This record gives sequence, C-alpha cells and structure tokens, in this order.
Amino acid sequence: MEEKCRGAERMVLTGEPVSGGIAVAQAYLYKAWEPEVTRSCFEPGREEEKLEAFHCGIEQAREELSRLGGQSEAACGEQAEIFRAQRVLLEDRELLAETELTIREERLEPDAAVEKVFTKYAGMIGCVEEPLIAARAADLHDVRKRLLRILQGREERTLFRLKEDVILVADELLPSDTASMDRVHVKGILTRGGGTNSHSAILARSFRIPAVAGVGEAAGQIPDGALLALDAMRGQVILWPTKEEIRDCGERQEKLLRRQAQEEPYLDRPGATRDGAAIKIGINIGSCGYEVPEKHYDFVGLFRTEFLYMEKSALPTEEEQFETYRSVLVKAGGKTVTLRTLDIGGDKKLSCLPLPGEENPFLGSRGLRLCFACPEIFRTQLRAALRASVYGSLRIMFPMVCCMEDIRRGKECVKRVMEELDREHIAYDRQVKLGIMIEVPSIAVIADMAAEEVDFAGVGTNDLTQYVCAADRSNPVASAYYQSESPAMLRLLKGIFSAFEKAGKEVCVCGEMAGDPETAVLLAGLGARKLSMSDSALGGVKAALAMVTLEEARELAEECMTLRTREEIRQRLNQIRRS
Ligand code: PEP
Ligand code: MG
Repeated sequence: MEEKCRGAERMVLTGEPVSGGIAVAQAYLYKAWEPEVTRSCFEPGREEEKLEAFHCGIEQAREELSRLGGQSEAACGEQAEIFRAQRVLLEDRELLAETELTIREERLEPDAAVEKVFTKYAGMIGCVEEPLIAARAADLHDVRKRLLRILQGREERTLFRLKEDVILVADELLPSDTASMDRVHVKGILTRGGGTNSHSAILARSFRIPAVAGVGEAAGQIPDGALLALDAMRGQVILWPTKEEIRDCGERQEKLLRRQAQEEPYLDRPGATRDGAAIKIGINIGSCGYEVPEKHYDFVGLFRTEFLYMEKSALPTEEEQFETYRSVLVKAGGKTVTLRTLDIGGDKKLSCLPLPGEENPFLGSRGLRLCFACPEIFRTQLRAALRASVYGSLRIMFPMVCCMEDIRRGKECVKRVMEELDREHIAYDRQVKLGIMIEVPSIAVIADMAAEEVDFAGVGTNDLTQYVCAADRSNPVASAYYQSESPAMLRLLKGIFSAFEKAGKEVCVCGEMAGDPETAVLLAGLGARKLSMSDSALGGVKAALAMVTLEEARELAEECMTLRTREEIRQRLNQIRRS
C-alpha cells in the first residue's frame, strides 16, 4: 500500500485538536458530492407533475433526516438536534411556497427551482449578524444538497460501509456525512477547515473519534491511502510516520486508554495535591463551542481567539466577535475567562488576511507585532472584547510580548479603545485585567520587571520552548532539540513563578506542559499554582497532582533542577507514575 500511493513527502501538519485521541491509519480522501444543476425549464402543462415530484422529494428528504436523527439520537442529543433542525427547515412554509411558485410560474425543473430558492435563502441567513442564525446557512445548504440528490435520482452516498480502518481527510464534513459514517472503521478525522465549533467537530466528539481541524492547505497534499499518524491530543498529524513514531503513537494510545479509566473519578474534584494544596485548573478553548462540565474546571485560562478568524473567509466583524466573546463569558458562568488577542503569524495563517511571505515567520510579524501593524484589526477585537466584558469576568492577554515597549503599547491601545467606548457611552468593565503571554525569552528573563507592569501573565511553554531552544515547534527536523523539560526551561520557569509571586501577581501556565500529568506536578513543584490545558487533559492532571504532596512536588522540582539533560529529567518525571 505504501509504495502504491507514495507521492507526497513526509510532513508534519498542525491544526486544532477538536476531539481527543490518537490514531494511525491510512488516509481516505473524502470529497463531498457537489450537485450540478442546469437551469432548465419544462414545457407548459406539466406543472402538477413537477410539483408532485418536488413534494415526493421533500417527503423522502424528511424520511432520510428522521432516520439519520434516529441513528444518532442514542449517541448524541446534540447531533440528533442538528437533523431535527434540518427537518424543520423542510417545513418552512415561506421556503416551500416560493419553491412551488418558482416551479409553477417560471416552469423551472424542481432541482433548478430548489437550487435557486434554497441558495437565495441560505445567502440571506448567512448575512444575519446573529452568529447562531448565520450558522444555520450551512444546514440549509446541507438540506439543499440532499434534496438535489433525491430529485436527480441519485443513490444516497455515505461513508457508511468502509472496508478498512481509515483516517478521513476532507475539506469539511457535513453533519450528514459524519452521522452516517462507519464508526468502526473511521479511526480519525482531519479537516482542512473547520474548528471546535463546526458540526463535524461536534459530531466527532460525540462519537469519540479523534479529530484535528483547521490544518489548512497542507491537507490537500495528502495522497489517498497514505499512512497517517493523527495525534488529536497535540493537534498534530504526521504524513508517512516513521516506525518509531508509529510505535510511539501506539504506546501513547494504550497509555491514554488506561489513564482515562483511572482518571474519571478525579474530574469532579478540585485540583489539589494529596495534602490539599490548591492548584487551580483551567481550560484552553478555541471557541464558544466547548462542552466541559462546570465542576471540571475553575477558569478559562486561554481563549485562543485566532480560531474564530481561521474559520472565516472574511475578517470577523466586531459584532460577530462580540457575540462569541459574550457567549463564552455567559457559558463560563462567572468563571474568569482569559481572552488572548489575535495570535497570527508563524505557523498560523488566515485565509481572510493574506500575509507577506517571510523567511522566518516565527521570528517575524507575529502575534502582538502583527496587531500593531494592523491597528484596525486590533481595535475591532479590543472593542468587541471590552463590550463583552460586562457579561462575565474577562481578562485580556497579549501574545508574543517581547519587551517592555510591547506591554506599554498594548496597554495604550486598550486605553484608547476604552476612551472611544466612553465617548460612545458604551459599557465595559473598567477593572478589566490586562496581562501578557510569557513565551519569548527576552520577557521571561525580565519577568520581575514585567510583573510590575501587568496584572497577570500566562506562560506559553510551547513557544517559550521553541525560542529558548531555537527549535521550530512544527519542524520535525528540530524536534529532538525542542525540549520543554530542559534544565534551561526549568530555571526560567522557576524564575518566572517566583517573580510573579513576589509581585503578588497571578501567573498561569497555559502551554502544553500544563496538560501533561508529570510536567504538571513538576510545574507545581517549581511554584505554579494555576495550570490551564485542553479539556481532555483535565482528568490526568488532577489525578497526578492528587498523588503527591506539595512538599514532594517541591523536592521533585529541586532534584530535577540538579539534572543536566532533558533525558534525565524526563526519566525522573516518569517515575512519578510508577511510584
Ligand atoms: C504557547 O505558546 O505555549 C501557547 C499557549 O500559545 P500557542 O500554542 O497558541 O502559541
Ligand atoms: Mg504561543
């Protein structure tokens, strides 16, 4: 199989992990059927016959949706709800009456009439400012395609029965594709677009199929049948993984299953060490579509707002952003939400904002720098965030802060937007806290000075590792040098925690180190009292913290700080599980 389809070079793709888990299987390129409709008319006198065909089509579409809804009900109420909503669209009087009128008056063939009227309605809904209504346009398109398929006499084509285990690779999956998919053989899903909020992500979570979304154009380079290792814990997909990487995935997968069973009981408990020292546990989110029970987390430590921009073909408006931020705050129900301002550049690209090519994009116009270069984009986001701040407990955090000037300039931008809102008599939280990501060494080293200028900080260990170790986080060639548990990182982290403790300011680790059970214990030992992670990591981290006393975690950290290599540190950390 390997040789037959070998075509693209080995690649590591990154995206948003929208449904946790790990899978190794061959790629199954899936392209949704695109209807072709010619605008043809029928001869006069056949109106009733054509209307009858249209009504039969509607009836069949309703039956199919009921069947799909029924199939999914047992698995996920939310998913059944999608099909119920689609059925309701087929009962919309206005929509049906206009289609009937088009068939009768314009004598358009039923498929051409459906294409014309349903497309028009989907366009109208898509323009509505209320995002939840606008999102229904995708459902209307899904229904339109179903009807066209029926009216053109085509078989229902699904992902129903697959012969072997696969990882689906698609631009975006429709709810109907996902619902009818063969859940035994679909081991993973990778989509070019989409995000946590997309329907396919909702469904993948409900089916517990690991999924990575928003991989971008690189997904188009995957040949059908190519071997993929999909790690939806890290948001990483390897095309043509090596034997070692496959083995590593297998081991991680087994470990994951064992862990999940053991962790379950810890999820409802607050984060604490065995002797009761509180370690506050937060979640990292990419949209308002997250579903995490209230008891499982204390706060939202990182809201990666760029995913909101990545899902769009145009920059999200102030109104769209406001609605999303408000929904997150309302959902958090009073828990603190740390909104990170747009962090684009490096490996994160926007189709709605083409950026000039750079030789070293990770060292170029990225994060806050890019926001300074695009003041209108920054201003729009800050306005939306501040307006939403009255609906909960919001904090604003700047990414990729490199120096004191960045902090001052970022704060100045917020101040100007506040003044603007004051002039317009628009309410916002005047006490809104402003913080920074500590993810660049030049600011990590002067954490004591930075702590004086900000209300709080989030430690981005993903980027901090990349910049401290000079190892591109998405380049597999440099992966051996990408050492989060290196002696240098440990020293730096300890310094950051103690600087913020001295200043009496909060600091939270929101990079991947916080979500790894062993490094979470190490971080607690180094002085971290707040950790934020993806929701799939919550149980593991809480369980690991509950296994040690704070003193034991401190001793572990002290011992690790005397070790000279990452390997030695990792080995010492691995003993936590075994002890
Ligand atoms: C980080 O760099 O650690 C971080 C949390 O931000 P991101 O992974 O989004 O760059
Ligand atoms: Mg970062």
